[in-house]
Amino acid sequence: MSLSAEELWVQTFRYAAERSPYYREMFANEHSTPDLETVSPIDKRILSERNLDFLCVPRERIVEVVTTSGTTGNPLLWMLTDSDLERLGENERMSFDCAGLTPADTVLLAVGMDRGFIAGLAYWLGLRKLGCAVTRAGAASASLVLEMIQKTQPTAIVGVPSFLRVLTEKAQEMGFDLRTSPVKKAICIGEPIRERSFELNAAGRFIENAWGAKVFSTYGVTEFANSLCECKAGKGGHLHETQLHLEILDDQGRPVPDGEVGEIVGTTFGVEGMPLIRYRTGDCSALFREPCVCGRNSLRIGPLIGRKNQKLKFKGASLFPSTLQSVLEEAEGVENFVIIARSNTDLSDSIEVLIHGGARVSTVRDLLQARSKVAPDVRQVSADELEALQMPAQARKRRTFVDLR
Ligand SMILES: [Zn+2]
Repeated sequence: MSLSAEELWVQTFRYAAERSPYYREMFANEHSTPDLETVSPIDKRILSERNLDFLCVPRERIVEVVTTSGTTGNPLLWMLTDSDLERLGENERMSFDCAGLTPADTVLLAVGMDRGFIAGLAYWLGLRKLGCAVTRAGAASASLVLEMIQKTQPTAIVGVPSFLRVLTEKAQEMGFDLRTSPVKKAICIGEPIRERSFELNAAGRFIENAWGAKVFSTYGVTEFANSLCECKAGKGGHLHETQLHLEILDDQGRPVPDGEVGEIVGTTFGVEGMPLIRYRTGDCSALFREPCVCGRNSLRIGPLIGRKNQKLKFKGASLFPSTLQSVLEEAEGVENFVIIARSNTDLSDSIEVLIHGGARVSTVRDLLQARSKVAPDVRQVSADELEALQMPAQARKRRTFVDLR
């Protein structure tokens, strides 16, 4: 019989308070299990300063060390025991099950297994548990991935949307129509494929058209060793409640109502190596609780809206760059763009949008005003100028938002 959320919390609290140097200190004066909602949340800064104080087991129990991608601050070391790897695989098995994968599927992983990232490993473990055949093509070479699609005939692919776009372009060059391939499902990681309303965004629509495949979004957090994947309804990623507890909090740490955007805060259940209690991810999204058409009643997490520290203040309102980005991606005549945020003397940020293409500046400005309720400065610039802003030296990824605050 599975334990209730309350029982899982008591278990996590007792274990962490006894074994983790950080939590031992934090809970030194707690003589019984506090209500989870009363525990002070921690953020990435604390995790980074006290990284190994979160470890609950001796080093000889560790079987896997991964690192976080380091979107903010220094990358963290995250250590997993044998039982944590089992939990990770089980999580991913349930996630792929949500997307409807079965042992009959052959799944191509267009994701790296190396560089200390947890994602590729998690997918491999989950697919193995599910009984799918796995092709580990990686994301280093588009030609190699396409060759492996032709040779191994996968029925599903796991990859980052922007890499799936690169694959599409390369396939077109080679005269390979991806719609003729047996790939019928694309599990999209790391980048959003939906708007806040759950409608597919430009990237999601592009992949469905070019591949003739259904897209599924999945959201994962290394420190939770956990991911939430959409089912065929495409109405948010399903939470696996025996492994993770999620809350959405506002800037003051208060819970926000279902459907409203705030920061994703999680508590892990069943973790041996480095359990976490009310960890603020810095990611912003919303929770949905009504039963899903797929028959699951688990909590779902909506599309990722942005990072908390990217939130823009604009003339008394606040918004995420993703709101402007999705308008600009759809705008006719905008071939490329960059949004630049600067700090103003008052409490408002200044936002400048640089575009390239045939669109008129005034049209784009009106469109932004109509769709996002803000009217930032818009300027036409050359393709080269945009390129320099998007890919500065040492950049790993093309960026369409530049934060100069
Ligand atoms: Zn569902």
